[in-house]
Amino acid sequence: MRHAPFFPFDCLILFIPLASPLGKLLTARRLLRMHIFETVELLQKHLSTLRADGHTIGFAPTMGALHEGHLALIKMANAAGHKAVASIFVNPTQFNDPKDLEKYPRMPERDAELLKDAGCEVLFMPPVQEVYPPGKDLTIQLDFGTLAQVMEGRFRPGHFSGMATVVHRLLDIVHPDALFMGQKDYQQLSIVRDMLRQIPSLIQLVMCPTLREPDGLAMSSRNMRLTPAMRANAPVIYETLLSSQKAFKTRLANFVEKEALDQLAAAGLRPEYFEIVDGVTLQPVHHYADAPLIVACTAAFAGEIRLIDNLVLKG
Ligand code: AMP
Repeated sequence: MRHAPFFPFDCLILFIPLASPLGKLLTARRLLRMHIFETVELLQKHLSTLRADGHTIGFAPTMGALHEGHLALIKMANAAGHKAVASIFVNPTQFNDPKDLEKYPRMPERDAELLKDAGCEVLFMPPVQEVYPPGKDLTIQLDFGTLAQVMEGRFRPGHFSGMATVVHRLLDIVHPDALFMGQKDYQQLSIVRDMLRQIPSLIQLVMCPTLREPDGLAMSSRNMRLTPAMRANAPVIYETLLSSQKAFKTRLANFVEKEALDQLAAAGLRPEYFEIVDGVTLQPVHHYADAPLIVACTAAFAGEIRLIDNLVLKG
């Protein structure tokens, strides 16, 4: 096992059986340190031991630069009775803008501390070649149809193919019982749900509600890159979603969307889309009565930072 240098004595715990009185005491007092793995082989060895001890695995894949929204996934996995496993992997194949990939915030040591304090059992932090071994093409060839073509798919070509490939690969490595993902990335979640249906897989997909800052801005790793002026403007995204929720009860989607785009632009943001869609098919709806589950989804630039958010309008 390779350990990050800030957990120099992690390996000691391997010699204390969890079921022994000392092991139980350490676990109860949360004195056990989190296990960190960089290789698939060692991760899988440890997960096998957990399974052999009768534990189930709740998995939360992330790209790091963690915030309370990510930690909520870990807490939900624990609350559901699983051993929580997180991954931190900034997946190069889902960035269509190389500058965005390069500037994506990376702070592994801070992230590991946060995960440990949130009750994470295992952190998988693989280098690129562990996820994509050279010479092997692990790209999945699933067709997500229109789910992947609308909204984010329209503005970020190739993004969902890269995302689905890495989630598929990580699931293949971790073999979790449950997968914890945020509502914040609603379209991503819809595509992963479709992927699990197509594979097919018994993994339970759990959607965790979006965690927000006190002023309503959805927590995001990208928020830390906002200038103070843009940070001050950004809560308008949530305000716009809330206004649309109210307006859509009596008005047609086209009008509500146009108003929302105007509201975002008036606050100094550059919206890419604001769409009111069927929460299952992600196809546009026109009227409140058109579907049982309706979601408003939006993406807007605050300066050079692209932010996304969504709100369930009905359902
Ligand atoms: P990311 O690191 O941005 O790829 O996100 C990893 C996971 O955390 C995804 O399932 C996201 O949907 C989820 N997530 C990100 N932001 C939030 C948030 N504000 N609230 C809840 N979940 C979130």
